[in-house]
Amino acid sequence: MMKIQATCDTCGRKFLLSQIGPQSDAPGRCPFCGARFARHYNSVLVDAVGGVENETQRFINLLAKLQAMETGFDIDIKALLSQLERDVLGHERSST
Ligand SMILES: [Zn+2]
Repeated sequence: MMKIQATCDTCGRKFLLSQIGPQSDAPGRCPFCGARFARHYNSVLVDAVGGVENETQRFINLLAKLQAMETGFDIDIKALLSQLERDVLGHERSST
């Protein structure tokens, strides 16, 4: 599975998003220091985090399926990745 890492602003330790998802021991909280993330919309955060690793993996698997069927055409993977990078980093800037 695709593991997505994050860093706690409070204690500076690294954790995986799955560690703060709905199935985790501490949903919406830092697994190390217990800091509560996104105080005002903590449950929304937990829901959003719930599927992100799975959905990222699903995207990769779907793409792999397409890549395996590239007969007669070529998917521009590099362009897709740089588009992804632009979009994701664009959101990063607007949220901080
Ligand atoms: Zn922490």
